[in-house]
Order: sequence, then structure tokens, then C-alpha cells
Amino acid sequence: MSSGSWTIGNILQVAADYLKKKGISNPRLSAEILLSHQLNLDRIDLYLNFDRPLTEKEVERFRLLIRRRAGREPIQYITGIQEFWSMDFSVRPGVLVPRPETEILVEQAIARIKAMTESEADSPRILDMGTGCGVLAVSLAKELQNAEIWATDISADALATARFNAEKHGMLKRIQFLEGDLYEPISDLKTTFDLILSNPPYVASEEYNDLPPEVRNHEPRLALDGGEEGLYFIDKIISGAPDYLRSTGWIMIEMAPNQTEKAVKLLTQMNCFGKISRIKDYSHLYRVVMAKKLDM
Ligand code: GLN
Repeated sequence: MSSGSWTIGNILQVAADYLKKKGISNPRLSAEILLSHQLNLDRIDLYLNFDRPLTEKEVERFRLLIRRRAGREPIQYITGIQEFWSMDFSVRPGVLVPRPETEILVEQAIARIKAMTESEADSPRILDMGTGCGVLAVSLAKELQNAEIWATDISADALATARFNAEKHGMLKRIQFLEGDLYEPISDLKTTFDLILSNPPYVASEEYNDLPPEVRNHEPRLALDGGEEGLYFIDKIISGAPDYLRSTGWIMIEMAPNQTEKAVKLLTQMNCFGKISRIKDYSHLYRVVMAKKLDM
């Protein structure tokens, strides 16, 4: 791109062609998102202002954003935003970009808690383990007015982002944020939960190098790498759950489709869970495993 008489219309065309040549998926959409972000406009406004000329500074800034995307940086780190559950969440390098399939956990959590509160606990206690930028904790705080929510993460960076997002959506007072590994930060609380849910790192270490460069080179390995077969954290979360769940409480974990059978087997072998089931994602692949602690 050389500077000249750039307009919104012609710069989008050139940027989209460039991204396409660099092998970036959805090049046109990416160019539109980045230009609307930079000009602080809605995407639709780009179309209403195709002939608007751009200043040299605007062209220069846009060019930097396009270069970052061409270098495979995820678009969400460039704009700093990912939508989840119809809310804008801030994301930044060091914190995993939320994926749409994680909304399944929100749907299932709401359904389980609503079924529960009709009869039992008035203020259900929910634990979001490994909250990342806080999407699960914040969405559930918003949807379940009476819930008391705890959110943990081993990464201080992630927790800072999660707190920021909770504040942004007016939910900061509703969520207790705790730093630490798995059950360690809640072991002193002396409390049990009605629901423990988690989107843990679950990419198999063996497959890590096959991830797209956007993920492999830019997203935090800490939030993705689930060890051998990707089962390390899933295993730990399931094994530890009985001590922290009240009877008839639910556990719910996101994982890769090929891990769900093993998770079901583990839950079955523990002999303290019932209603063990797998839920499919929007691509019709098993994505979530859940179970209810038996009333014994
Ligand atoms: N769904 C993510 C991926 O496949 C993995 C997320 C995770 O490990 N929690 O890239």
C-alpha cells in the first residue's frame, strides 16, 4: 500500500487483497473489522462512507494493524475485544481468546442452576476454575442474579483481565477472584459448590505444534496445553471435584471431542456421580461433559 488518495472503499479492497495473498482467512471481513476499529466506526458505517477520504495518519495506523494481522496475530489481540454471550470482553496477549463453543457451558450452567433453585439453594455457589478473561464467571453473574461466584486462575495476568471485564459489565462485586492452581486457592474456603465448571487447557501436548500459527505463536501455552492427550487438567478437576461439590451439585467441563469418552469413564469409575452426559457443540461434536454428584 502506498499513500495516495485513499478512501475507506479503496483501502479496504487493497487491504483485503493483501491479507488474502498472505493466506489469512476471511480477508475482507478482517480488513473491515480492523478499519472500523481504528476509525471507531461500526462496520456498517464503512459501507455508508465508502468515499470518505482517509488522512495520512489514518492510513499509516491502518497499515500497522494490517501488518500485524498478516503476521498471524489474532484479530482479537489487535482490537482488544472478543464478543461472548453478547457482551464485549477485553482480551490481550497472555490471556486466551474466548471461543464461541464455551457458550455451551453458560447455557448448560444456567439450565442446571435454574432447575436446582426452583427447589433448593436460594443463592447457588458457582466455581469457575481457570477463568481466563472471565467470560464464564461474568456471563453467569449476569444471568443468575442470586448466584455467588468464585473465579480462579493460575495466571495473575488473566485474573487482572477478568477483574477488568467484571467491572466493565458491572459484576465486580458479584465475583470473588482467587489466584492459584486448580483447587488450591479454594481449599481454605471451607465451602462446597452447587456447580463447578471449567474450560481448562486441553490441547494435547503431542498436537501443540499442529495448531494454527495464530494460536501456537500468540496465545498463551499455559491456557492451552493440557499435557499428554490433553487430559492432565481434566483428570485433576474430576478427581478433586467430590471434595468441593455439595451432594447433588454439578460438575461441567469443556474438552476436545475425543477426550469426552475418557472423562465419562473416569466419572463413572468414581462411583459418586450420576446423570453423566455429553453435550454437543455447534459443530455437532461432543464438547462438554457433565455429571451430578450423588446424594449419598
Ligand atoms: N478450543 C481451543 C482450541 O482448540 C482449546 C481451548 C482450551 O484448551 N481450553 O484451540
